[in-house]
Amino acid sequence: MHRRLIAPGALAAASLLLAIPASAAGFQPGAPGIGDPYYPYYGNGGYDVSHYDLRLKYQPQSDELEGTATILARTTQDLSRFDLDFLLDVSEVRVNGAKAAFTTSGQHELVITPATPLPKGTPVTVVVRYSGVPSTKSAYGFTTWHRTPDGAVAADEPESAWWWFPSNDHPLDKATYDVSVAVPDGTQAISNGTLQSTSSKLGWTRYTWRSAKPQATYLATLAIGKFDITTGTTSAGIPVINAYSKDLGDNDGAARASVERTGEIVDWLTGYLGPYPFDSVGGYVPNTTTGYALETQTRVYYSPKQFASGSNTSVVVHELAHQWYGDDVSLKGWKDIWINEGFARYAQWLWSEHEGEGTTQELADYVYASHPADDAFWTVKPGDPGPDNQFDTAVYDRGALAVQALRDAVGDDAFFAILKGWPRDHAYGNASVADFQAYAEKVSGKPLAALFDTWLFQPSKPAASAARTAAVARAATAPVQPRSWKQIEATNFVHQG
Ligand SMILES: [Zn+2]
Repeated sequence: MHRRLIAPGALAAASLLLAIPASAAGFQPGAPGIGDPYYPYYGNGGYDVSHYDLRLKYQPQSDELEGTATILARTTQDLSRFDLDFLLDVSEVRVNGAKAAFTTSGQHELVITPATPLPKGTPVTVVVRYSGVPSTKSAYGFTTWHRTPDGAVAADEPESAWWWFPSNDHPLDKATYDVSVAVPDGTQAISNGTLQSTSSKLGWTRYTWRSAKPQATYLATLAIGKFDITTGTTSAGIPVINAYSKDLGDNDGAARASVERTGEIVDWLTGYLGPYPFDSVGGYVPNTTTGYALETQTRVYYSPKQFASGSNTSVVVHELAHQWYGDDVSLKGWKDIWINEGFARYAQWLWSEHEGEGTTQELADYVYASHPADDAFWTVKPGDPGPDNQFDTAVYDRGALAVQALRDAVGDDAFFAILKGWPRDHAYGNASVADFQAYAEKVSGKPLAALFDTWLFQPSKPAASAARTAAVARAATAPVQPRSWKQIEATNFVHQG
């Protein structure tokens, strides 16, 4: 996770919602948002993207990015006009080969009017030529484009695409990616998936990456800088590609001692979550000043600060668990964030037990006991936390407590069948908290509405009786802090100093 630099204020551009006369009978503009109540203008309506082809050139010294995005989509309505989410400067748009009119609107809408209206259900190819200096662009008063001394990084949640490619920016519209980036010789470009080729010409080296399974826009990542790249394979034969900034200083050893365990941890997670869902895995540690990590698909983003106190395999477990819970199975709406974070946190608890640093039960007891009933912690509902609390600690810790309560209620056999079956059952798709409850009920054969309501949807501390029923908080007095606790908490955000 994930920190925007400044929280968004009240939404502008309400006029976008007003009906606009269609340019042909029955043809209507696509909505400027995909319909997520947390973020009304994120994503767009009227079409569904299947593939992004991004051909980019980046100059680290000046932060100048130029690119051509070729977007393959299909219309989902009779479409007179549609939006992409984007902040850089556009010079030309073509739709199905013909020049299209375009303008900007709201905080991050690129509004495109094709020469000919687009009938519902037809394939559409959109080509956007653009350039700009991403670090000079903001929306709602914030940026998530991170400059580094030797380049830049796009990795944030829920927003990072706006600064480097035009998209339908919401997890509901997943697509495959080819990302090809030219950078000055001696500099590397890192993205998701497998490295298809590198070539050098006239002082520029081009890196071409492919992410061949459906991927949410916020899980697409780009890092440019001077990196050491290491390679390996998991026991199951999945290629591992990791990258480390050559400028990590004192954090270099701890970063490598953590991220180089990626293959081992993928093998271990496979035992709980089923086969790894993608054809490549790894992580990268650029020399950013941020404090978080993010589950960017197949290539996890780690801040150097994650390793300032020494190695931390727990954060590697968290981000790799997301490859199943969040990346393979993505949320339907941002209110479903528990599907991602509750389970990535619970994977850390399982790792803690594996490492002999505290059992899942001890961690659950500790979370339950260490927050008194009047603690604001319990006012956050992990099942629908609201946009301001989407990444609150409670989504993680109370979220994992809910997973432990589920385990206690259905028993280990059903619980581990659910844990492994969910990614298989919803592979490469989207799902909600309600879908998860229905799945857990189907596998366990037990009604679970009351349990989900108590642990995920009530703005109060579950009563001791509920905790005892769930076997959470068996310890009568405040339990000792498990040894793994500090590393687990450091996953949320490592603060300055
Ligand atoms: Zn997470």
